[in-house]
Amino acid sequence: MKQFSKPIALTFDDGPTPTSLPIIEALAANHCAATFFVNGVQLKKYPEITARAAGIGCEIGNHTSDHRHLPELDYDEIIRQIEPTTAQIYAITGVRPTVMRPPFGETNETVRRAARDCRFALINWSIDPKDWDHNDPGIIRECIINQVKDGALILCHDRMSGTAELMPHLISELKERGYQLVTVSQLFRAKHIKLIHGTLYYSPNDQPESLS
Ligand code: ZN
Repeated sequence: MKQFSKPIALTFDDGPTPTSLPIIEALAANHCAATFFVNGVQLKKYPEITARAAGIGCEIGNHTSDHRHLPELDYDEIIRQIEPTTAQIYAITGVRPTVMRPPFGETNETVRRAARDCRFALINWSIDPKDWDHNDPGIIRECIINQVKDGALILCHDRMSGTAELMPHLISELKERGYQLVTVSQLFRAKHIKLIHGTLYYSPNDQPESLS
């Protein structure tokens, strides 16, 4: 009997950058998708890399122009961190992004209001292998394999060489373990959760934080 696979979402922040490419090609080779939360400054340098990711069915999310600590900014400054990146993503992919990851995962009421007004759901994560800290493929793998479960939302960074080295192996391994690698929007849809603008999500298994 066919086993129904368990959906999970890999997410990659801070690109696009040349180390994004082996990850994108591994996803393509395995007929999988992921979500790339991109920065405007990087998009200016490597638009063709994000075009390729979108071309194989990946979702492109907004990670702001230049990765500031958003809670330190006022409303108008936050809007200026979000909107130009939205326009860049649209120009490159033809798709208006609907998910946003705040840099460092940091939000407050003003950030959530700005995200709501720019029509974004805020997406953090349920698993953080801290690749940005140690860049060690073995530790990243162990952390993910130990914690992964149906509905997991995993934070990684495509700018890290250890992550780029690991992903071709890990993507196959996760598939073999019965997981279906999908985008963030597909993951919440699969779990019948409608993403609401200005609300902060960690995964479909965790309680979201709404605007008060
Ligand atoms: Zn980041």
